[in-house]
Amino acid sequence: MTVRVFGTAQDSIVDGPGLRYALFVQGCSHHCEGCHNAKSWPAEGGTLMTLGQILEQVHGNGLVRSVTLSGGEPFEQPEPLAVLAAQLKGEGYNLWSYSGYTYEQLQAMAAERPAVGELLAQLDVLVDGPFRKDLKSLGLLYRGSANQRLVDMPATLAAGEVVVWQPPAFEVQQPLEW
Ligand code: SF4
Repeated sequence: MTVRVFGTAQDSIVDGPGLRYALFVQGCSHHCEGCHNAKSWPAEGGTLMTLGQILEQVHGNGLVRSVTLSGGEPFEQPEPLAVLAAQLKGEGYNLWSYSGYTYEQLQAMAAERPAVGELLAQLDVLVDGPFRKDLKSLGLLYRGSANQRLVDMPATLAAGEVVVWQPPAFEVQQPLEW
């Protein structure tokens, strides 16, 4: 299986807590005004990477135990990413994904496209919703605009409603907006 990829960051510290491998997928239909990554929008751009190539890069840095899917829109390629996510979770990696869709929209999409639900079920945290320029703030933790939520996926699936992820106290190093 292959993923259409815009780029990768093999030692990111801004796409979730800790040192992370970040996979930026190619293709996004949301076209948010003010998007920081508009070159990732065309679905036919980027580079095709096999799951094996991605895993080889993740394994290549022994200090990395966390992976973030970003974009582009990861949930527009859910089939290969659900397989990748299951492999990574099986190996004990912490897994986050960004999406321009809300959690509720993704749950509805999963009824028609099972891989959407399979990918959601593997995540520790979903950062959901489109980037909104009018709600942009540099003081937000791991997200660009105040409408976006850090959804604690295991807690949310257990509760049947959105539970917002709370960072460990030692990670908060500056005043934050919630
Ligand atoms: S969802 Fe993300 S990548 Fe897609 S247009 Fe919005 S900000 Fe850009």
